[in-house]
Amino acid sequence: MTGEETVHILEAHANGQLAGNGPFTRACQQWLVDKTGCKKALLTHSCTSALEMAALLIDIKPGDEVIMPSYTFVSTANAFVLRGAVPVFVDIRADTLNIDESLIEAAITAKTRAICVVHYAGVGCEMDSIMAIAERHGLYVIEDAAQGIMSDYHGRALGSIGHLAAFSFHETKNVISGEGGALLINDERFAERAEILWEKGTNRSSFFRGEVDKYTWVDIGSSFLPGELIAAFLWAQLEHADGITARRLHIWNNYHTAFADPETNHQLRRPVIPEGCRHNAHMYYLIYDSLAERSAFIAHMKAADIMTVFHYVPLHLAPAGLKYCRTHGPLPITEQLSERLVRLPLWPGLETELPRVIDTALAFANA
Ligand SMILES: *Cc1c(COP(=O)(O)O)cnc(C)c1O
Repeated sequence: MTGEETVHILEAHANGQLAGNGPFTRACQQWLVDKTGCKKALLTHSCTSALEMAALLIDIKPGDEVIMPSYTFVSTANAFVLRGAVPVFVDIRADTLNIDESLIEAAITAKTRAICVVHYAGVGCEMDSIMAIAERHGLYVIEDAAQGIMSDYHGRALGSIGHLAAFSFHETKNVISGEGGALLINDERFAERAEILWEKGTNRSSFFRGEVDKYTWVDIGSSFLPGELIAAFLWAQLEHADGITARRLHIWNNYHTAFADPETNHQLRRPVIPEGCRHNAHMYYLIYDSLAERSAFIAHMKAADIMTVFHYVPLHLAPAGLKYCRTHGPLPITEQLSERLVRLPLWPGLETELPRVIDTALAFANA
């Protein structure tokens, strides 16, 4: 918390508008446009619902295919499965754990409509190659930038590169509102319809701008917009986004320095940040040699009351993944690294405990 969340919530209460699309919603959306350079931003209940809006906007139909990594959260796939599409998984890169752009083109079929990339740990995917592939084949690119706020790729903010993108403000992310998210629109063709889907299929937003004299049902839609209390909370976080990111980076850099020697000694592997990527310190992880070694590390840290956790179970191995999705080729990196990766604690406020966390982790490496 930044300390100003409750102040803004009281202001929203005093404003008297508690439904969405009020002053705090507009302030947050303008901040997102200014900060990322996207054409338009709409607050949503979650990254999940922003991805669902993206699937509606690109008019995903039953049988369509969407290429994505299997090493991701369920919502990346679910947003398209809900429209009857088939997620097609390709393997990830061993360095960043992002989709391996060199495998995308071979997975394209006549049914492929989109590529949905995930910027794992807030580190950008190879967007130049991915946008070029999409352009060659007439595909849309959706960025699942749930973890990517305040990161950039060759000077462009994550979330501002694909046709559409989704941020998450879930409490596990860097900038939070409990539950929350945003749809970022970079292709202006989607801007007007996005507003309509967002406002339950009505042209209510045009009505409020005085562009039409009454509002009515004009398209499909749903309730995708959060109320003003959520936006007021989020505003306190966005105002401090630079400070939050700086504190996280400080912790991340301390970890990175501390684990340099164990990496040199082949005891573990550290995260890789490619040239041209500026990241937001969303996550610090270590990769051990085997599942057994990772389990031993988690137990070692737990014995010192430090919680460390693994991450995604690959979607192609999950029950719903087997039912609704398919893979293109084997996914050896996904399967191996998901069993060997462990995340360390990382949040603003950890600073005082950080030396103990690092010492405990180093004691495992040196045991
Ligand atoms: C957190 C996360 C989501 C879901 O975000 P919500 O805001 O909780 O819906 C989706 N994709 C990825 C990659 C995430 O990390």
